[in-house]
Amino acid sequence: MTYRITLIPGDGIGPEISEATRRVIEATGVDIIWEKIDAGTGVIEKCGTPLPDEVLNSIRKNKIAIKGPITTPVGKGFRSVNVAMRQKLDLFACVRPCKYYQGVRTRYQDINLVVIRENTEDLYAGIEFKEGASETRKLIESIEALNDVEIRQDSGISIKPISIDASRRIVDFAFQYARKYSRKKVTAVHKANIMKFTDGLFLEVAREVAKKYTDIEFEDRIVDNMCMQLVQKPEIYDVLVLPNLYGDIISDLCAGLVGGLGVAPGGNIGTDIALFEPTHGSAPKYKGMNKVNPIAMMLSGVMMLRHIGEKECAENLENAIAYIIKEGKNVTYDMKPDREDPTAVGTSRVADAIIDKLKKG
Ligand code: NAD
Repeated sequence: MTYRITLIPGDGIGPEISEATRRVIEATGVDIIWEKIDAGTGVIEKCGTPLPDEVLNSIRKNKIAIKGPITTPVGKGFRSVNVAMRQKLDLFACVRPCKYYQGVRTRYQDINLVVIRENTEDLYAGIEFKEGASETRKLIESIEALNDVEIRQDSGISIKPISIDASRRIVDFAFQYARKYSRKKVTAVHKANIMKFTDGLFLEVAREVAKKYTDIEFEDRIVDNMCMQLVQKPEIYDVLVLPNLYGDIISDLCAGLVGGLGVAPGGNIGTDIALFEPTHGSAPKYKGMNKVNPIAMMLSGVMMLRHIGEKECAENLENAIAYIIKEGKNVTYDMKPDREDPTAVGTSRVADAIIDKLKKG
């Protein structure tokens, strides 16, 4: 089968790691026609926006995309292209597998969990009221009248909407994911004891959805306890499902448990569209130096191959990456015991070594 997939190299280190990733994916033998299309700082001058319509149209048409990181220009009035893409394409689930690979320098070894974060609401909905603004004063007055509470007049306010629909959709996604990838347990994370009408609602919906999936264990954890348990006994967790803010924080915590940004892949998934990308950003200071680690984006490629049903290619690529990490020879500076290690190789050499391994089997 031939796939048509949108490839967005991104900016900063994006083009280098995207090229390395494209090469290793092709070396698995999967038949892909890449629709390469630019977004990010490099196209602003030409298109007047870092996110031209043709990028979204290509993804909508092909349904599957993989992207390098994109810089969010500071103070120039641009919103994050990454957030805009998730919103415009309704990619409601952010999936971050956190898995230990032998050879990665980390305190933990026995970890293989997946963080599934709701991507569309919660405190990230962008409903904010600036301290001192007239709307904010009006809002404070209304809340005080409705709720018999007192709010300091010099407050800024951010609103946290959590809905039944979005909660049901993400928890259902987590169970479907668990089924598809033969996982055993889903843990819903919340602070329902304090935020009864938002996190409480999320938990109530999660419990309801869980009843449909009798083949998968369900439990819940309060987010603060979850943080402690992830540090003490991460090996007992499997699939975590969380509202947006906790999902953001916990996915970084889990990336840290398994060795950090260099090995943290991700996918943003909607009803029929999926966009894969590494967790890390565009690291502009390393742009064009052929220096940074392409493995997080390559592992995002592994996720993409699994998602489209190319199980064997995904497995082969993941095994070849795992071999290179374990061997520790053809890895970038950040994976060496000492960051100044002169034997560290460049981005493209990592890809060459993985392709060699794929060829040899
Ligand atoms: P960053 O992830 O780019 O960098 C953080 C640190 O990690 C830096 O020291 C960097 O050098 C290092 N690093 C990152 N990726 C690496 C890799 N592959 N190999 C080796 N080292 C790596 O985060 P930042 O500096 O906060 O953000 C830079 C830009 O990226 C910002 O404009 C931010 O908005 C953007 N960003 C984009 C995405 C995305 O496209 N999804 C995600 C996060 C940040």
